[in-house]
Amino acid sequence: MKPSKVGVLGATGAVGQMFCRMLEHHPWFEVAIVGASEASSGKRYRDAVTWRLESSMPSGVADLTIQSCVPEVFEGVDLVFSGLDSTVAHVKELAFAEAGFTVVSNASAHRMHPDVPLVVPEVNGDVLRSLSQPWSGQLVTNPNCVVIPLVMVLKPLVDVFGVGSVHVTSMQALSGAGYPGVSAMDSTGNILPFIPGEEPKIETEPLKILGRDLAIRSTAVRVPVRHGHLLSIHLGFEGATPSVNEVSQLLQTFETPSWMKGCPSALDKVLKVYDDPMQPQPRFVEQEGQGMAVHVGRIRGEGPLGISLMALGHNTIRGAVGCALLNAEVLALHQS
Ligand code: NAP
Repeated sequence: MKPSKVGVLGATGAVGQMFCRMLEHHPWFEVAIVGASEASSGKRYRDAVTWRLESSMPSGVADLTIQSCVPEVFEGVDLVFSGLDSTVAHVKELAFAEAGFTVVSNASAHRMHPDVPLVVPEVNGDVLRSLSQPWSGQLVTNPNCVVIPLVMVLKPLVDVFGVGSVHVTSMQALSGAGYPGVSAMDSTGNILPFIPGEEPKIETEPLKILGRDLAIRSTAVRVPVRHGHLLSIHLGFEGATPSVNEVSQLLQTFETPSWMKGCPSALDKVLKVYDDPMQPQPRFVEQEGQGMAVHVGRIRGEGPLGISLMALGHNTIRGAVGCALLNAEVLALHQS
């Protein structure tokens, strides 16, 4: 299959750079147009961008000229990925959807819009198979980087055991704040006990994805780790608390839906469950499934106090760009 040409909005930013990196050798999509603010447009990508990722800048985008983020200049592509700053994503993403483009966004602007699906494909990706929206194009979003590992763990437990309450503390890596992010003076040898704007997203987005009215209390802190958000989760159940073994078995058998097989970025088993109490650790987060897996460990508890466990996801891969890419793959698979 010849790869289809796609665009990246906000291509110069932290998320945009990751889009360019993850699309570099993608078998279905090829980056043909990159867009950013007026301050960058007209410049060559390699000249405008300070490349912050560990791998080198993809040669396919390095010599592209950065364009303004307006639909007219993106003619020739059907799909755009958005890593736009949330303040501008609101207007610009709608303009693209109204102009007939498929917009696959990682920004928060439209996540809770009633006409916009908020999707983690392994959990609720079937909503993409029969999409009906008021625009001539389409607009699809993925959730916050903590919500992705959280709903992956919650989905089987909610369905089988009836989860009633969730307390989650997310220990969030520095790369989640973009670049330059948190100052070295604040982050070195320190933990910041509050991340503005994070907790409400973690308490509301899972309800839309799971279609359930769960009570979620979230605490979000910034820790001096490069990549990988570690979640300490405590679950209360509607009925009797299941055993540690039942929870572990259920999470181990959570499989990617069979209709997603064929998506290049999908793992057969997205949840990796550990018995070793020293796992999961952020420093190993890229070793399994190239950053697309969600790691679960320290399952413990039982009795009236419920079950506690830890989950870990790579925040800019599984928690952001990888999820958007998977959404685009599901759309391509079912709308071609
Ligand atoms: P960022 O580094 O500040 O990048 C923002 C991008 O938006 C840049 O390409 C910037 O272009 C472009 N932009 C800004 N104003 C614009 C305008 N008026 N018109 C067109 N383009 C404009 O931000 P980020 O960290 O990549 O985050 C991008 C989005 O993803 C945000 O909505 C954020 O909430 C979300 N997100 C981020 C992370 C993360 O880990 N960082 C995780 C999940 C979600 P210039 O370079 O030309 O200014």
